[in-house]
Amino acid sequence: MDFEIPEHLTAMVDTVRRFVKQDLEPISRQVEEEDRIPEEVVQTMRRLGLFGLAIPEKYGGLELGTLGECLVYEELGRTNACFRTRLGTNNGIGSQGIVLDGTKAQKEKYLPRLASGEWIACFALTEPEAGSDAANIQTTAELVGDHWVLNGRKHFITNGDIADVATVFAVNDKQKRAKGGITAFIVEKTFPGFYVGTIERKMGMRGSHTCELVFDDCRVPPENVIGGGSMVGQGFKTAMKTLDKGRLTMGASSLGSAQKLLELSVDYARQRVQFGRPIAQFQAIQFMLADMATQVYAARQMLYHAASLRDKKGSSVIKEASMVKLFCTEMANRIADMAVQIHGGLGYMKDFPVERFYRDLRLTRIYEGTSEIQRLVIARELLRE
Ligand SMILES: Cc1cc2nc3c(=O)[nH]c(=O)nc-3n(C[C@H](O)[C@H](O)[C@H](O)COP(=O)(O)OP(=O)(O)OC[C@H]3O[C@@H](n4cnc5c(N)ncnc54)[C@H](O)[C@@H]3O)c2cc1C
Repeated sequence: MDFEIPEHLTAMVDTVRRFVKQDLEPISRQVEEEDRIPEEVVQTMRRLGLFGLAIPEKYGGLELGTLGECLVYEELGRTNACFRTRLGTNNGIGSQGIVLDGTKAQKEKYLPRLASGEWIACFALTEPEAGSDAANIQTTAELVGDHWVLNGRKHFITNGDIADVATVFAVNDKQKRAKGGITAFIVEKTFPGFYVGTIERKMGMRGSHTCELVFDDCRVPPENVIGGGSMVGQGFKTAMKTLDKGRLTMGASSLGSAQKLLELSVDYARQRVQFGRPIAQFQAIQFMLADMATQVYAARQMLYHAASLRDKKGSSVIKEASMVKLFCTEMANRIADMAVQIHGGLGYMKDFPVERFYRDLRLTRIYEGTSEIQRLVIARELLRE
C-alpha cells in the first residue's frame, strides 16, 4: 500500500500545520491557564473550514474523507488537545449521526451551520449508570400528543455547555432497548426543558469543558428524530456507527501528540548535559528514543492503512478502527511517560508541554470507548469472521 499523502490533501495539511505552529502553539499555555479558547482563534478555525472537515461539500463542508481528516487531526494532535476537541464534536460525534442517518431536511437545516462553525454540536449518550454499557441508558423518550418528551440526565458531555445542538439518545421502548428501543434526537439548546448542569473539574483537557445535560420534560418535535419516523428505535445503531468513525480520528490525534513528544524528547536529550555530556549519548536514553520512534512509525502505518480502507470500503472497518484507537492511544500514553522520564524533573513542571500532554493523553484511553471495550470489539469481530 502506498502511503504518500495524496496531492489533493497536501495543501490542507500544510495549512493546518502552519496554523498549529503560528496560531495555536504560542497560546497553548494561555489557554491551559485561562481554561478557554480565545474567540479570534475560533474565528480562524471557521475561516479555514475546520468545523466542516467531515461534512459533505453540498452542505458547506470540506468532505475530506477519512484519510484527509486523520491527517488534519494528526497535525492538531501536536498542540493543546482542547483545540481539536472544539472542532471534534462538529466533525465527529456531534454531527455524524445527522450525516450518516439524518433526513434530507435535517441535513439541510443543521449541517451548513455546523460546517461553518456558526453552531457547535455535542453528542449525549453517556449517563451516570451507562458508560461502557451504553445500552443501559435511562433517559426516556415518550410520545405525548404530537411531541416527544425527554426526561433524564446525561453526564461527561464534551462541549455540552457551548453546544447549540445536541445528538441525544433516549429509550422509547424499555423492553427492546438497543434492539429497537433507543432513538436518536436532535435537541436544540432553546427547546423547553433542556438545561446545562454541572461543569466537571478534570485532570486535564483544560480549554475544553465537559458537563452534565438535563432533560426535564424536554419537548422535541417529531421531525427531530434522526432519520425520521422510520428510525424511531434505531438510534443505538446510529450511536455505534458514529463512535466507530471517531476511533480513527482519535487515533490520529494521539499519533500527532506522540510525534510531537518524540521531537521534544530528541531535542531535549541533545541539549541536556549531565556527567559532562548530552544525555542523548547515554544508551538508556537512546533506547527510549528508539522505542518511541518505532512505536510512532508502527502507529502511523496502521492508521493510514485503516483510514484508506475506510475510504474504500465505507463503514465496514469496525475491527480496524478499534485496533487503531486501542494501539494509537496506548502507544501515545507510553510515549508521554517516556517523554516525561527523558525530561527528568522538568518533565513534571507545567513550564514544559510534556506535562500537559501526559495528563491530556490519559483521557484518550477512556472516552469514546475504553481500551477494554476496544478489545471486546476486536475479539467479537475476530471470532465472527
Ligand atoms: C472528559 C470526558 C469527555 C467525555 N465526552 C463524552 C461525550 O461528549 N459524550 C458522551 O456521550 N460521553 C462522553 N464521555 C464519556 C465516556 O465515553 C465514558 O466515560 C466511557 O465510555 C467510559 O464509561 P464510564 O466512565 O462510565 O466507565 P465504566 O463503563 O464504568 O468503566 C469502568 C472500567 O470498567 C471497564 N469495563 C466496563 N465494562 C467492561 C467490560 N464489559 N469488560 C471489561 N472491562 C469493562 C472499563 O473499561 C473501565 O476500565 C466523556 C468522558 C470523559 C471523561
